[in-house]
Amino acid sequence: MNSHDVILNTQELTKSFKGFTAVDNVNLSVERGSIHALIGPNGAGKTTCFNLLTKFLSPSSGKIFFNGLDITNEKPAQIARRGVIRSFQISAVFPHLTVLENVRVALQRGLGTEFHFWKPESSLNVLNERAEELLVEVGLEKFTNEETLNLAYGRKRALEIATTLAMEPELMLLDEPTQGMGHEDVERVTELIDRVAKGRTILMVEHNMNVIASIADRITVLQRGSILAEGPYKEVSNNPAVIEAYMGS
Ligand code: ADP
Repeated sequence: MNSHDVILNTQELTKSFKGFTAVDNVNLSVERGSIHALIGPNGAGKTTCFNLLTKFLSPSSGKIFFNGLDITNEKPAQIARRGVIRSFQISAVFPHLTVLENVRVALQRGLGTEFHFWKPESSLNVLNERAEELLVEVGLEKFTNEETLNLAYGRKRALEIATTLAMEPELMLLDEPTQGMGHEDVERVTELIDRVAKGRTILMVEHNMNVIASIADRITVLQRGSILAEGPYKEVSNNPAVIEAYMGS
């Protein structure tokens, strides 16, 4: 991989909480256009890593580069404007808005405007059209005018992906996208992630090995804050240290 193919990388990224090191000298490298999974047992430091990459937490030491640019000292909003977008938690989707309205709010956020529900009809139409396109992309077009509250769980996660897409991500960070889902929803969301990955890069924390095996191009395994292994699924899943630390557990 030459440096041009790397969209995001970290150099000795470290986060300590009162003497406890949750992320320890991590050198992560995410290839442009890939689906990259971050895995590891509970407490391995995955969430802390995501919080560092989006600057919800500041690193204790080390650096973060996006497209070769040092973004370590940037604020969360600046990083989001560069196109590093973390999937919204379901709680961040407004339950009493319709599905379309939720995507429109995300589009307005992406434009850096406030929530002008009173915007002139013309610009509302433009936003609605784009929102409808995104709903088609995630397969929710039949639910456009449904109150979000009434969506089934798997569809809420698809809506979450649509609101993330609305922010025009270059790099999407997905936080356990299939967590708590039944088999059918897992398959649907996996297929959706694979589809929206075209032309984008995805870094995801995911526990479901079937999901990882079917769509992840590369995997980084964290253990106690450090990288234990990195590579394609086949290689990583056959690594004895990984089997012992994670796969076998
Ligand atoms: P994972 O997402 O892989 O389960 P986390 O990143 O949530 O792991 O946590 C890594 C370790 O850091 C855990 O031992 C956790 O208890 C600790 N940790 C995370 N956040 C904090 C915090 N704000 N203060 C103290 N310890 C924390």
